[in-house]
Amino acid sequence: MKCNLCGYRCNAERSIRPGHCGLDDGVYVSFYGPHFGEEPFFTGRGGSGTIFFLGCNLRCVFCQNHQISRWTVHDPLPPRARKTGPQGLADIFFELADRGCENINLVSPTPYVREIAVAIEIAKGKSLGIPVVYNTHGYDSIEALKFMQGLADIYLPDLKYCSDELGEKYSGVPHYYSTASAALDEMFAQVGHLKLDRRDMAARGMSVRHLVLPDNVGNSIRVLDRLAAYGPEISISLMSQYHPLRDLPEIPPEMRRTLYRDEYRRAVDHALELGLENCLIQELDSHEEFLPDFNKKDSFRKD
Ligand code: SF4
Repeated sequence: MKCNLCGYRCNAERSIRPGHCGLDDGVYVSFYGPHFGEEPFFTGRGGSGTIFFLGCNLRCVFCQNHQISRWTVHDPLPPRARKTGPQGLADIFFELADRGCENINLVSPTPYVREIAVAIEIAKGKSLGIPVVYNTHGYDSIEALKFMQGLADIYLPDLKYCSDELGEKYSGVPHYYSTASAALDEMFAQVGHLKLDRRDMAARGMSVRHLVLPDNVGNSIRVLDRLAAYGPEISISLMSQYHPLRDLPEIPPEMRRTLYRDEYRRAVDHALELGLENCLIQELDSHEEFLPDFNKKDSFRKD
């Protein structure tokens, strides 16, 4: 089957040769477990049952998960990673649910969406009792999202840029904004605004993340304007945690610093001016707290 799951639409027959993303038709899981660093309505008491997939079709110069996202099938499988399939994924869903996780949180799922859809069908057929979160960079084709229709309870996309040029510059992909903008419309049409349950946990709907980047507040303001078109109730995480990664040499000069307080303030002020009612604001000093190390057993623990 030819792959057109992301904005590249490279038409690769991945059972014969890897696509532009460097992935074949296997399903590769890097790491899974409860994660306590997500938004409060995803984390709750039990943590978000996060499954990090290996590889990614974007090459963001600021990717916090670059230890796993840059992987391709030409590289050796990392020590904790595994190759699996739909039944193996469904087994992981139930293991996370049994460990008390609040949801299944699929991180960078796009190239694997077909197998994920089958896994969710298996798991929901056996009464998986927690919501499934499709946690994506937003560079998803409409075809990819149609696989998730009726299966994803929650969409958690990024909207990184409001211009295709910034997508080329910082994530190395063509047509980022036009692809992500159409993808968000499709996600919103499928699930609507984010709804919380009686425990204030996310149950269904769309919540959008945006990371404010150094020297790019104008982009953040355009992103907020775009998101406001969904109405003042749109759920947004306006993130300030940008941290320059010294081990990624391609990082451009303007991105070799953390965010200035004034830059984040301007983005927050704009969200307030727009009357956005569900915009989550971060502490500006939190940028190092969020850096995972996938070479450690507990990738999110600071010691
Ligand atoms: S996920 Fe995107 S880059 Fe990877 S094979 Fe499919 S269309 Fe190509």
